[in-house]
Amino acid sequence: MRLAILALLLTGGAACSAQKAPGGGDDDGGGDDTSPDAPPADACAGVPAEGTCTSATDLVRCVDGAVQTEACTGACITAATGAASCVGIEVCAGVGPLGRCDGDTLTRCDGGVAIGDCAAAGKTCAYTDDAVGYACVAPASVGKLRVAGTIRWEDRKLEPGVLGPPEPVPARGGMVALLDGADATLATVSAADDGTYVMHYDAPAGAQVRVVMYSRSRATARPARVRDAQGYLHAFGGAPFAAGATAPQDLLVKASATNGAAWNVLDNAVTAMDWLKARGVATLVPVYMYWQLGARTGSYYQGADNSLHLDGDDGYDDVVALHELGHYMQDEYSASDNPGGAHDGSPADPRLAWGEGSATWVALAIRNVPYYIDYSAGGGWWVELENRVHAASMAGGMSQNISEWMVAELMFDTTDPAGEDSVDGSVEETGKVFFDYIPRPAAARGRPGIDLVEFLDGWFVEHGLASCAVMRELVHGKYKFPYDFKGPGGVCP
Ligand SMILES: [Zn+2]
Repeated sequence: MRLAILALLLTGGAACSAQKAPGGGDDDGGGDDTSPDAPPADACAGVPAEGTCTSATDLVRCVDGAVQTEACTGACITAATGAASCVGIEVCAGVGPLGRCDGDTLTRCDGGVAIGDCAAAGKTCAYTDDAVGYACVAPASVGKLRVAGTIRWEDRKLEPGVLGPPEPVPARGGMVALLDGADATLATVSAADDGTYVMHYDAPAGAQVRVVMYSRSRATARPARVRDAQGYLHAFGGAPFAAGATAPQDLLVKASATNGAAWNVLDNAVTAMDWLKARGVATLVPVYMYWQLGARTGSYYQGADNSLHLDGDDGYDDVVALHELGHYMQDEYSASDNPGGAHDGSPADPRLAWGEGSATWVALAIRNVPYYIDYSAGGGWWVELENRVHAASMAGGMSQNISEWMVAELMFDTTDPAGEDSVDGSVEETGKVFFDYIPRPAAARGRPGIDLVEFLDGWFVEHGLASCAVMRELVHGKYKFPYDFKGPGGVCP
């Protein structure tokens, strides 16, 4: 009788805890409890103490005889034991656009978090292709043998004048292949963002195989390669093992290896492409990066073939890599009329100042650190771009030569929310001008071609005239640039 009432109340939506007798249950009238303080055997009408998932994101469990509901920020998952638990959205930091397999558990982060048990559906968790990545697939559709592990490389934290000690980090999205004794490729997959990978393959019994990681991100969401001077991907291989062996095959490229920094270069491209995606760029064009230790190529980007060249000295120079990726973004998703040529930060053609300065802004905005840094043995050089001012002249016109540093400084001032300047902006606001207005300016003012004047025009076209006063304080007051505040977005009061 008692249980029946509880079940009725539950389906009617009442709180189960209301049924707990006050004072410890000694007046519940049932008389059949072995202990008056113990909750009834099924007080929650079938909802187990270990919890159960009622939807992809809702978990219910029975606690002290009461049904508790939890809305998971990521997903509700059920373990092999049957127990349910919430997984937070933070699991996606280790997943990436191609998903992740942990045994036969598949995790996908396409919008929300989805965690599924492939085995429960009679399937296996495996890599499909570079667009989809990991998925639950029919076991017969993949190789009979399986190898899994984690690929990593050693990062060195970049600060002005200093490269930190080597520190292992996952090779996010890195390419992994299985080669046989004749170096024929038996399987190719991509690692998840925590560096884990799973490969299925077929090989004759007893054959010797080995796992090799390459400096390439194969995901269509992050198409990037890092090549050596001969045009080949950098590679790092593990020791041979017998086909079918199930021990994890983990790889770690040391920073002391001659090609160790190739994965740092690649990681910057992954970061930049994820940042582009967050800015609304849906389809990414491949970038072909070239880096080899000791190569004296200088660092530059070439739009004709989307090739990005990093000097042999710039392997751990994240800011230099991101600046060059900023040129890739100008080429594909924004605009620049940079005439090119040597530049040293002194006042130059404003189109060059825009090309170089806005590329530097990309690096500053992605890192949220206001330093251009070019490290080399002995410390290299750096420029602080938040407090330092490379001002123009109020006596010059809007077409005057300006410093690329001023462009980067001014753009970063419109990006940082609480910097030492009059404007409290965001990456979204500055990015909107960079990605939406600059490729399609409503007027050609200042020097013909894209320069800082188009950026300022675009600021008011995209964001209206509410910021006239703080922008005037920034542009005239701090940078002494004689912008007329009469662009296509309207006339500032
Ligand atoms: Zn540049």
